[in-house]
Amino acid sequence: MSAPAKPQPTAKPANFLRQVIERDLAAEAYAGRRFGGSPGDAAHHAAGAHDPARIRTRFPPEPNGYLHIGHAKSVCLNFGLAREFGGVCHLRFDDTNPEKEEQEFVDAIIEMVHWLGWSWDANGVSHLYYASDYFDFMYRAGEYLIEAGLAYVDEQTAEAMRASRGDFNTPGTDSPYRDRSREDNLRLFREMRDGKHADGAMVLRAKIDMASPNINLRDPAMYRIRHAAHHRTGDNWCIYPTYDWAHGVSDAIENITHSICTLEFEDHRPLYDWFNQRLAEAGLLQEPLPQQIEFARLNLTNVVLSKRKLIQLVEEGHVDGWDDPRMPTLVGARRRGFTPEGFRSFADRIGVSKADSWIDFSILEDCMREHLNGVAPRRIAVLDPVKLVIENYPEGKEEDCEAPNHPQKPDWGKRKVPFSRELWIEREDFAETPPKGYFRLFPGNKVRLRYGYVVECTGYDATSDTVRCRYDPDTKSGTPGAEKVKVKGNIHWLSARHSHAAEVRLYDRLFRVPYPGAGETDFLHDLNPDSKKVIEAQLEPALREAKPEEIFQFERHGYFVADRIDSKGREPKFNRAVTLRDSWQK
Ligand code: ATP
Ligand code: MG
Repeated sequence: MSAPAKPQPTAKPANFLRQVIERDLAAEAYAGRRFGGSPGDAAHHAAGAHDPARIRTRFPPEPNGYLHIGHAKSVCLNFGLAREFGGVCHLRFDDTNPEKEEQEFVDAIIEMVHWLGWSWDANGVSHLYYASDYFDFMYRAGEYLIEAGLAYVDEQTAEAMRASRGDFNTPGTDSPYRDRSREDNLRLFREMRDGKHADGAMVLRAKIDMASPNINLRDPAMYRIRHAAHHRTGDNWCIYPTYDWAHGVSDAIENITHSICTLEFEDHRPLYDWFNQRLAEAGLLQEPLPQQIEFARLNLTNVVLSKRKLIQLVEEGHVDGWDDPRMPTLVGARRRGFTPEGFRSFADRIGVSKADSWIDFSILEDCMREHLNGVAPRRIAVLDPVKLVIENYPEGKEEDCEAPNHPQKPDWGKRKVPFSRELWIEREDFAETPPKGYFRLFPGNKVRLRYGYVVECTGYDATSDTVRCRYDPDTKSGTPGAEKVKVKGNIHWLSARHSHAAEVRLYDRLFRVPYPGAGETDFLHDLNPDSKKVIEAQLEPALREAKPEEIFQFERHGYFVADRIDSKGREPKFNRAVTLRDSWQK
């Protein structure tokens, strides 16, 4: 797959969602809506004022897991469109399933959406909502549909119900309970609510069309019995709405105009509309109703985003938890040193489409590099140290060299980097017998020690694993005449006496192939065995002060973020976010 073209900075990339919104705004499709100041039914909104939001979108996570990079796309899309068009984006927890949902996930999701840089506060109102707050309305609407002859209680077993649904080629067959009286349906539905029946004993179904070519319309379930405590409503309810029933109604209650979701819900759209239209006809929901619009979910090469697979990675110990920096979760990406700005520009760059496709992981890395290049102060780290001794530099002497904090930002100033007789340099910057074209240190060759002096290699002592050299005292960077000795190589170094050792984790892609688990293979076979390398590096003194989440460019190496301080930590440890160049390009 070829990478999408880079967008022009002035023009936002093509985005069919923008076109839909622009068309609706031009037609004033939603201009007459009123807003009751909070979510509510038609009467509540009718009593309110003209809705100040030109459009309303929402990000609707189910609080049953951690947000990942795919969710970040949806977050940026929904909040971004609202901002762009003078609208508001709601954060709504789709918490209609008591078993798997927890407050811990609610808190983590709130934190990550904030971290990505978005807010659901508008004009002093917080638009943070929970579908579970609409359970009363949904129940009332359920009774209404029963009274209108549009819903019934079905006591078939789950297997019988599945069998009578039919399939793509076969129409469904009516349940023997389909023509129950309204009184019986109402009585049974109330008994369901009152806890008189066991889990699975019966469901409330919409009465639509058992012969519909769209299987979603063959009398879908609306309520199931679950005697389970809910993270917010506790034991108030033992019936819970299905996704299809709850989602559109929640959108309508919140005055959402554009309900953006992923493609697999395309076939559910007629159902989304059916429920809302029936309730609007009854005067329960305000019109105009929200419209569901589908876009292609994000697929990223070398990454898995499926919740089931992510759980497996964590539970089987293939990674060190949900916030392992190799995980595609946002908590992981944050510890990796990926930034909100990088994610937002990624979301802009990839745009949205109607067709499923794969985005190359290197595009995400490029977005991170681009942002980090501008904001990360430069520091020096020797990742694979070997000693360099300057024979003609006095023992005990030390002096300062000056290194810029950012080469393109003189106003960020310079810092002092101490220099002395014994230095650390990268092992790969020395070769006893240089390969062709090598212009770093080898016996007889001269290089510049960046921000310091020109040195000439005099040899290598294998027993002490030490490279030896002599320096030219007239070549100190920044002094007059320093440039008179011309050299090809320019290498970084640290004074051994002043630098400190610290743990550095070199992270790489978690999967070594673009499409993990493609074909019939187990995705675990595609794990990259070299996705994490822990080394002990030498770091310049300034890095002792690094605070968790501070990100630096280690010159010539890449971008590294200070990890959170663990219980036994003194000096910060660093995680590699991304190298300076893509090493995966063939
Ligand atoms: P589940 O399988 O539990 O439904 P999910 O990843 O869809 O998992 P949700 O909490 O339902 O999780 O997702 C919240 C929102 O994020 C939804 O609107 C969904 O469409 C969107 N979303 C999820 N995954 C992606 C993805 N890969 N790309 C874009 N949007 C996504
Ligand atoms: Mg989902």
